[in-house]
Amino acid sequence: MKTIWLVIPCYNEKEVLPETSKQLQGIMEDLIKREKISKASRIVFVNDGSKDTTWEMITELHRENPLFTGINLAHNRGHQNALFAGLMTAKEYADAAISLDADLQDDVAAIEQFIDKFLAGKDIVYGVRSTRETDTRFKRGTAHAFYKVMNAMGADTLEDHADYRLMSKRALEALSEYGEVNLFLRGIVPTIGYETDVVYYQRHERFAGESKYPLKKMLSFAVEGITSFSIKPIRMITGLGVLLFSVSVIMLIYFLVLWLLGHTVAGWTTIVISVWGIGGLQLLALGVIGEYIGKAYLEVKHRPRYQIESVLYQKEKEEE
Ligand code: UDP
Ligand code: MG
Repeated sequence: MKTIWLVIPCYNEKEVLPETSKQLQGIMEDLIKREKISKASRIVFVNDGSKDTTWEMITELHRENPLFTGINLAHNRGHQNALFAGLMTAKEYADAAISLDADLQDDVAAIEQFIDKFLAGKDIVYGVRSTRETDTRFKRGTAHAFYKVMNAMGADTLEDHADYRLMSKRALEALSEYGEVNLFLRGIVPTIGYETDVVYYQRHERFAGESKYPLKKMLSFAVEGITSFSIKPIRMITGLGVLLFSVSVIMLIYFLVLWLLGHTVAGWTTIVISVWGIGGLQLLALGVIGEYIGKAYLEVKHRPRYQIESVLYQKEKEEE
């Protein structure tokens, strides 16, 4: 039987914890009773430096029922880091971990489908929301634009998949090899590979309390996503530099002709050509510098070069 851990990052979630823990406990105990998952399965709440009584509540839950486990971070490090901490702990004990939010927005009824796909041999199962009716029009619009920009910039993300996903032990082990500190999990996970599948679910409204992701955090999350995956913005500067510089060369010829024909005010040609020429050259130079910085940036992340899916190897048959 497989051991499954649920990993739930929590930041000031005292309003939702009682209900979340109750629902998850019901689901996990049922799965254990039906012998679908092992008794070693756990629900782990990662307290991301909450300022309210979240940690006290987690401690209490653990005392009452060992099904609940807690990890207490020393400081608020943000959703992605809290999630990573939980996943890296789960990796040591579980055959697979499912990450979800504390506010019951990720439909907990889908948990069993994730497990079914895992038991069928998938290493990564993505939860994809089927509708966005519960979101405001603004959130829907910005979210859509976000995925568009992300993909255009070279970060391969799955639209409408947040961080509701299952990862097998070996997928988690692969994840642990990513050396970067700026985490953008939904961009990293697809680069791991292995067999994947998708589970569709209905996204609910936040059950209680307020979103811990105001617009400001969302924007910085988007910038993080783009800059930690691609150096395309740098390429764009280089491209612009080449373009401007080419234009300035064409203009140089054009203005020289005009000047030779005597159609211009004295001094104008030199000024216009130098403005364009120097501007273009500067951008080009910035782009070239950027290329090197970009290379260094990609190097310092020390990402693993590959993950081996399987090896075909047979020991020589032993003589009998
Ligand atoms: N969260 C966290 N640390 C933070 C912010 C949020 O661990 O600094 C957790 C939060 O408790 C929740 C999940 O991340 O379980 C998603 O946050 P939220 O529901 O507020 O975001 P939204 O659904 O509004 O995007
Ligand atoms: Mg939420």
